[in-house]
Amino acid sequence: MQASEFRAQPGTLYIVATPIGNLRDITLRALDILKTADLVAAEDTRVSGGLLSAHGISARLFACHEHNERTAAAELVQRLQEGRSVALISDAGTPGISDPGAVVARAARAAGLTVVPIPGASAVAAALSAAGLAEGRWLFHGFLPHKTGERRRELETLAAVPQSLVFYESPHRLLETVADLAVVLGGERRLFIARELTKRFEELHECALAEAVDWLQGDENRRRGEFVLIVSGCPTERDDGMKEARRVLEILLEDLPASQAARLAARITGAKKNALYALAQELKPSP
Ligand code: SAM
Repeated sequence: MQASEFRAQPGTLYIVATPIGNLRDITLRALDILKTADLVAAEDTRVSGGLLSAHGISARLFACHEHNERTAAAELVQRLQEGRSVALISDAGTPGISDPGAVVARAARAAGLTVVPIPGASAVAAALSAAGLAEGRWLFHGFLPHKTGERRRELETLAAVPQSLVFYESPHRLLETVADLAVVLGGERRLFIARELTKRFEELHECALAEAVDWLQGDENRRRGEFVLIVSGCPTERDDGMKEARRVLEILLEDLPASQAARLAARITGAKKNALYALAQELKPSP
């Protein structure tokens, strides 16, 4: 642990996370590196110029975006080999996560150079931190294809994944994407919508996929800004088994006390007696 200031080291590439909205969401180490790096490689030099000047940093900027990433990578590797230090940032959040950065990081590592991540904001992590996923496992998919047919085909490949699915989406395609999520994955699954994270109009909402389009259409502000969408995973056989056990238990509880209903439901369905007894207590607390 070190609380004193860092200095960018010669011949080192730093992959630096920047805010996803709130300019204060930047780490002290990120600021140290951005201040002291010989070169800051940025996705959009105007966007990053704004961030840097807000923090009183004047840096030498170098453009590195999705259209020039390969040639930029070759040039950055050369500068690093000459002993310069480079900080790479994207427009928002963590480079390489649905943003340029991966090609440069890979090229630098392939050339035997030191690559150092400077972690910080990312929309996926921020959304997951507030979603409170019960099972804690998720699969990050990022953006889906723009065209309906391709999007649906890609979703079909994800339909059986048991982990929660995390998508990025822009306001332009939000409604179509959410409608397709319901069609392909099924309206019963839960959707967690994280909108405008860390910004003035930040909003979190959870509903069944079947209700999501109506909710979004209920107010045009709900469709504004940037979105992370988290869909609950494909129900597993165990979930289905428990659903059936619950159905049987509910019927038995109409005529029997909790302990007897739980014992019988466990014998009929093969589900665990203790779990069913706990559920029976919830459904029909002892008098
Ligand atoms: N590299 C970034 C990261 O680490 O999150 C992601 C960049 S990607 C080009 C932009 C997408 O990320 C947006 O379309 C949106 O889906 C998501 N996103 C970025 N900022 C967001 C925010 N403040 N709130 C919600 N989603 C956001």
